[in-house]
Amino acid sequence: MIKKKISIFGSTGSIGKSLINILKKDKKNFEVVLLTADKNYKDLIKQAKLFNVKNLIIKNEKSYNILKNSPLSKKVNIYKDFTKIKKIFKKKNDFIMSAISGLSGLEPTLISIKHTKNMLIANKESIICGWNLIEKELKKNKTNFIPIDSEHFSIFSLLENNRTDSIDKVYITASGGPFIDFPKKKFKKISPKEALKHPSWQMGKKISIDSATLMNKVFEVIEAKKIFNLDYKNISILTHPNSYVHSIIKFNNGLTKVLIHDPDMTIPIFNSIYCTNKKNINSKPLDIKILNNLNLKKVDINKFPLVNLIKILPKNNSLFEPIITFFSIIVL
Ligand code: NDP
Ligand code: MG
Repeated sequence: MIKKKISIFGSTGSIGKSLINILKKDKKNFEVVLLTADKNYKDLIKQAKLFNVKNLIIKNEKSYNILKNSPLSKKVNIYKDFTKIKKIFKKKNDFIMSAISGLSGLEPTLISIKHTKNMLIANKESIICGWNLIEKELKKNKTNFIPIDSEHFSIFSLLENNRTDSIDKVYITASGGPFIDFPKKKFKKISPKEALKHPSWQMGKKISIDSATLMNKVFEVIEAKKIFNLDYKNISILTHPNSYVHSIIKFNNGLTKVLIHDPDMTIPIFNSIYCTNKKNINSKPLDIKILNNLNLKKVDINKFPLVNLIKILPKNNSLFEPIITFFSIIVL
């Protein structure tokens, strides 16, 4: 069987490593064409050896120089940026995973859409700030798009081939982060270390902090509006500490669908690469105890005032979304 060609942008991060772990179990069916990182050359070398990868991009200058002077550089092409992408992608990838964190993920995503049959995007900042550009490239190149953020992957799965104008309301869930039950009067004493300790998800630092403040949900509402072409008035957030339900869609025909899975990004990532080729994943049995205690609630705005930003988001595309994205990066 012909191996599927796959590349991972941000392969040393949390999403990147989850995908690497899936591919490890199915090496015979995948050819990893390109892996990329910023600084973490040690993990990049391990991943390159494991999959016999011929192309690596490493952005940080110090890390690039270390890789360039390592024995690996005799067998592997090592680049410091995405300018040689045409040379690297001689043939179309079957899948590219865009999982660089922050706005640096946008340009690699945009210039690579033409080089893949399926573009899997976890990098939410590029969706929030550049969706109109991404969408144009996807259409121009007939590239299939799969959102990886769990809420958006679940909306995408629930919709199947239904048009988004069949939606009455979409509910996306928020675990509420580590401070959902924490008294507001103690908020001032919270340390960054405590804020990074997410109770249900294992994620990179930036998204973990945004989850603690619920800024991540503001971003996800913007993502959902853009990807599925919805109005803000049709999207609501519900807190749900178990992170078992990822989205609920109430359709105009009276049906409501709910998507449930364990809080593990492996599940959406796995399903994104095996969407056409059915394969089984090891997963836990349905947890009736959690189902009986979904505990879905409206957001406590008093505790999480950032959610108020949604009320002032402009209806049309504007610079407001890139500015809040940029601001949330520099504040960190
Ligand atoms: P991580 O911080 O764990 O990983 C980021 C990856 O991008 C690493 O490989 C890192 O390299 C690389 N990187 C960072 N900065 C740059 C840069 N300037 N240029 C090139 N590469 C860079 O992030 P996550 O995996 O948690 O998240 C990735 C994206 O997916 C984010 O946009 C996040 O919002 C989104 N997302 C993540 C989820 C999760 O569960 N983690 C869930 C839903 C969405 P290095 O390791 O060398 O630093
Ligand atoms: Mg999410």
